[in-house]
Amino acid sequence: MNEQDFRALVEADAPLFSKIITCRPFSVPIPESPMQLSSNVERRVLVTGGAGFIGSHLCDRLLELGYDVLCVDNMFTGSKRNIEHLMGHSRFELLRHDVTLPLYVEVDQIYNLACPASPVHYQHDPVQTTKTSVLGAINMLGLARRLNARILQASTSEVYGDPEQHPQTESYWGHVNPIGPRSCYDEGKRCAETLFFDYHRQHNLDVRVARIFNTYGPRMHPDDGRVVSNFVVQALTGADLTLFGTGAQTRSFCFVRDMVEGLIALMEYEGDQPGPVNLGNPVEFSMRELAEKAVALTGSQSVFVSKPLPEDDPKQRQPDISKAHDLLGWAPSVHLEEGLRETIAYFEKILPETTSHA
Ligand code: NAD
Ligand code: UDP
Repeated sequence: MNEQDFRALVEADAPLFSKIITCRPFSVPIPESPMQLSSNVERRVLVTGGAGFIGSHLCDRLLELGYDVLCVDNMFTGSKRNIEHLMGHSRFELLRHDVTLPLYVEVDQIYNLACPASPVHYQHDPVQTTKTSVLGAINMLGLARRLNARILQASTSEVYGDPEQHPQTESYWGHVNPIGPRSCYDEGKRCAETLFFDYHRQHNLDVRVARIFNTYGPRMHPDDGRVVSNFVVQALTGADLTLFGTGAQTRSFCFVRDMVEGLIALMEYEGDQPGPVNLGNPVEFSMRELAEKAVALTGSQSVFVSKPLPEDDPKQRQPDISKAHDLLGWAPSVHLEEGLRETIAYFEKILPETTSHA
């Protein structure tokens, strides 16, 4: 679905999409302030990968909601800058630790986000990437079992590979190359899902598997090679925008604030719901359209340059989010242009010098 069709559906008051725009992101009311947390609410939350892009926003939101947050990160792709504003917060703690090693802490809930997410980063040391997904899952599941804690896995749309079903529903088993350059990530995440479901079946552990689709926003790493950060940084610095292949391949981009609300809604859902649940924004764009938006919104003079399409690059990707919507009452609310403006403002602030201005 493109943005025009999406807006047409909304205007025609089509039932699902009108709800997407207007519904509150939670079916279960999550307290707005720490004061509203009742004493029996679980309070101590572990966020692995908490110094990364999504993880740091998750830590922010959990602290806002009154939780004690233990952020565990080995700083491979995360950065202290992402969480420096939290240092000194009475309910925030940072522990430098690699999830491929066992961890002994006391918490009530675990969000397992530790894993490099950009193709450039996860292909840098592919063996370590698989270890992070698989050993990380084993260690965090073992911890959750010992503590009888609920645990959420940050899985990915990459479990669908280069999908032959479009849009992707959770019942689709995917189309993944097991031996290609993306396999360390795709198969690592698939194996982690297997482990989560086996712990659920075998040990009755309360697990939640979220399949996250492309997410963007402030605190993306400027050099991580992902398309939104690449295009925005290139446009702001006057560099050529690197369009891989023809630029006709599609992705659906979810703003990080929406994603964090979806992750918390899934974690907070009361009842047996291991998932998997797709979380993402269903509005689909081609990479050429995204590049055009980046140039227009930055007012850049940059031009496009063609680069070869990476091996196994999925041709299309769009989440079917009916399950998240029906179960959690969740749907994204930030349109791409709005989210891009915030992202551009962030990069304008952190880049040493920019040549273009919005
Ligand atoms: P990110 O690279 O910014 O964050 C990952 C964090 O995990 C970093 O802080 C990194 O230092 C840490 N980490 C990596 N290996 C570790 C290890 N062995 N031990 C401890 N910490 C480790 O990526 P992100 O975009 O914030 O992604 C967070 C999670 O969401 C990942 O699990 C990723 O697979 C998943 N996800 C993200 C997207 C997206 O579009 N951003 C899409 C699908 C899934
Ligand atoms: N892409 C691009 N130019 C870039 C970086 C990425 O055209 O500078 C394309 C890439 O080929 C893919 C899409 O953008 O088709 C999304 O890439 P990204 O690495 O952000 O995420 P993923 O492929 O994991 O969805």
